[in-house]
Amino acid sequence: MPDIIDLRSDTLTRVSKRDVEALDFAKIGDDCYGEDRYVRELEAYCAELFGKEAALFMPSGTMSNQVGLRCLAAPGDEIVTEVGYHISFFESSAVSANSGLVLNAYHSRNGVLTADEARIAIHAKARWSSLYAVPKVVAIESSINSYGGIVYPVDEMLRVRALCDEMGLSLYLDGARVLNACSHLDLSPARYARPADMLNFCFSKGVGAPFGSILAGPAHKIEAAKIFRKWQGGSLHQSGLMAGVALDKMRHWQQVTQQDNDNAAWLGRRLGEAARLKYPVETNMVFIEAADAKAAAARLAERGVLALAWKPDLLRFTCSSLVTRRELERAADIIRASL
Ligand SMILES: *Cc1c(COP(=O)(O)O)cnc(C)c1O
Repeated sequence: MPDIIDLRSDTLTRVSKRDVEALDFAKIGDDCYGEDRYVRELEAYCAELFGKEAALFMPSGTMSNQVGLRCLAAPGDEIVTEVGYHISFFESSAVSANSGLVLNAYHSRNGVLTADEARIAIHAKARWSSLYAVPKVVAIESSINSYGGIVYPVDEMLRVRALCDEMGLSLYLDGARVLNACSHLDLSPARYARPADMLNFCFSKGVGAPFGSILAGPAHKIEAAKIFRKWQGGSLHQSGLMAGVALDKMRHWQQVTQQDNDNAAWLGRRLGEAARLKYPVETNMVFIEAADAKAAAARLAERGVLALAWKPDLLRFTCSSLVTRRELERAADIIRASL
């Protein structure tokens, strides 16, 4: 369907023949035997990029988060997070079913769970005995999907780090789109992620790979993560097929995320002339208010533009390498005409 302009998600990028043909099949082996050279290269590349001791290739961002949180907490423990963060918005059943963890999900003022808000969340429950749920982790997100893809600020992350140090907690960063955030800040991923003990990043989002995520952190935690990944059935065999494509995409991460951020900024300006933007556009997505988002998405689909009805009153448009600037310009005209 060449006429459809798909702005629903950055996970919808296509795999090309070139992506597969560029692979060196001799490097692909059985990762359960530690013999896949692409997986090892990708893990080493990411450990270095994010400034952590070690990293582990994961089938999905959800498993990466699940395993990461399990490395930092045990059944019955509490994770302090924000109600709209992926870990709460999409994974609240998963943390409970997989790891017996409980969420303390705070409704922040503007999407950035601040250190002060995390402290309020912590003190909203009885803390005078370890017979009750004990908070072990503060889990933040960047960019923050549910709040328009805004970037979690560096200064606030340092304040949360100080809170964690004061209270003996770990800091977990769900950085599914953290490279889009780093492009926005013009900051190296290692610098940005430094306060976090562990982080997740998704290859299947901003850099346009078809598959996979990475969990990065201290070497001993990544050793534990290998066990929890195995428990979840996430140890894969010839996963170099996917890791090799992801590694190739990672080499262009700055260019791709910058371009997608720039495209979204442009789209935000165009749509902002005709609709109410719900959030400032900082990375690769634009959210606009709509009286009936589902009906608006259906109307757009009839005209060849796909958007996501994120909430009943909110439409999401995401920029990715799936959509060129020219297509985006055409989409903007269609969206404006249908508003
Ligand atoms: C997409 C996403 C995930 C989960 O990734 P999957 O690979 O779809 O499981 C986790 N956190 C955030 C913030 C995401 O956007």
